[in-house]
Amino acid sequence: MSKLMNAKQYEDSLRKLNLKVYQFGRRVANVVDDPIIRPSMNAVAATYEFAHKPEYEDILTTTSHLTGRKINRFTHIHQSTDDLVKKSKMGRLMGSLTACCFQRCVGMDAMNALSITTYAIDEKHGTEYYKRFLKYLEFVQDNDLVCDGAMTDPKGDRGLGPKKQFDPDLFMHVVEERPDGIVVSGAKAHQTGAVNSHEIIIMPTITMREEDRDYAVSFALPADAEGITYIMGRQSCDTRKLEGMSFDRGNMFYGGHEALVVFDKVFVPWERVFMFREYDFTTMLVENFAAYHRQSYACKVGVGDVLIGATQTVAEYNGAEKASHVKDKIIEMNHLNETLFCGCIACAAEGHREPCGTYQNDLLLANVHKQNITRFPYEIARLAQDIAGGLVVTCPSEADLKSPEVGAYVDKYFKTKADIPTEHRMRILRLIENITMGTAAVGYLTESMHGAGSPQAQRIMIARLVNMKQKQKVAKELCGIDKSDNLT
Ligand code: SF4
Ligand code: FE
Repeated sequence: MSKLMNAKQYEDSLRKLNLKVYQFGRRVANVVDDPIIRPSMNAVAATYEFAHKPEYEDILTTTSHLTGRKINRFTHIHQSTDDLVKKSKMGRLMGSLTACCFQRCVGMDAMNALSITTYAIDEKHGTEYYKRFLKYLEFVQDNDLVCDGAMTDPKGDRGLGPKKQFDPDLFMHVVEERPDGIVVSGAKAHQTGAVNSHEIIIMPTITMREEDRDYAVSFALPADAEGITYIMGRQSCDTRKLEGMSFDRGNMFYGGHEALVVFDKVFVPWERVFMFREYDFTTMLVENFAAYHRQSYACKVGVGDVLIGATQTVAEYNGAEKASHVKDKIIEMNHLNETLFCGCIACAAEGHREPCGTYQNDLLLANVHKQNITRFPYEIARLAQDIAGGLVVTCPSEADLKSPEVGAYVDKYFKTKADIPTEHRMRILRLIENITMGTAAVGYLTESMHGAGSPQAQRIMIARLVNMKQKQKVAKELCGIDKSDNLT
């Protein structure tokens, strides 16, 4: 039976996992309640909780094409361009409610890419991956699980392929084939939401050649499978979360996280293997996942919504909101943010049906969208800091504001208007700091740059996908270099 979990049930389900997580050189005894990790758990929990709200139901839930049961859209396989458009809207919605990375898209994108690729492998090689995958998908949908879609290998020397690395584990690979399954070693880096996930889905990180057959592997495992270790990534200002509910943390509720996930001779049963040495399908899996995940960066539009709201607020607190340059800068922020929204909606609306029935978004437009994502959030953040002023980085702490000795000075000298509490001004500045250079800047800025592929990866795809011949043909016809059949 299908069960749509709520936030509490999701949290309880995580407590049943036995993850091996390290942070600051020590094993984390209680992952769910760890003060640094918990805001990221809250952000994933929001994808469960908001799915129960009638106003978000149409965006956050849908019907499984497998079972006809109601499911969370984060576990859905897109069945139409309408589904793809709703996926983009879901990203913006969740970003606008949490102002951070809510982590659940990578698993959704991995499953959609696998649905297309496993079907295609079976067509060519007569394998049974698609059937296996659908069984796994039903399990994920019925239990409303979070999957960590894991693609990025450490990659070692970028000038060398997997087989030529001095250490074979720098790319995930098969170390043993057994009658009941395979054994794998390697690691996945920068894994968004890894320790908030029930499952981990592994995909190859690049196109593999025949000599790299052992690296052409895709599979899914429970997140706490024997031999998996998680090492948490640090974030700027992360230890502010150890200061209790101080507003110095900026975002009081939510955050994201990334981790290095190490696989030390991990066993995978055959029923969880979705690609095994079919190196000729690694390009398809990588490109489909990349296209889906580049669309998923609709999330940044939602975070942008919050940043723009915070910037307008601080402008009003400062009494600067009527200055023409401030108004114009806020228009520019909105223009850039809505331009980003255009890209993720367009690549969804221009999607197409793959032979297995899954809808894939338009690859060219998804790459253009992600290329814009590598730039516009930086400009939006720059304008936010411009309007907010230097106090974003020179503001004393909440403890200073509350200090019996100096609190009155902080209150007096950072007050802008009689009816605006200094504390409110400090809170909104901390939120701007959080998004543009604190823990949330991981998601809003650097992940915008490198997540789902660094800028050059999109430029290569844009060059490949654009129909240059057609553009040249018409240009040559119109100026009379070539004759045209179409022109009168
Ligand atoms: Fe989803 Fe955005 Fe986080 Fe990626 S960065 S997992 S697309 S919320
Ligand atoms: Fe990402």
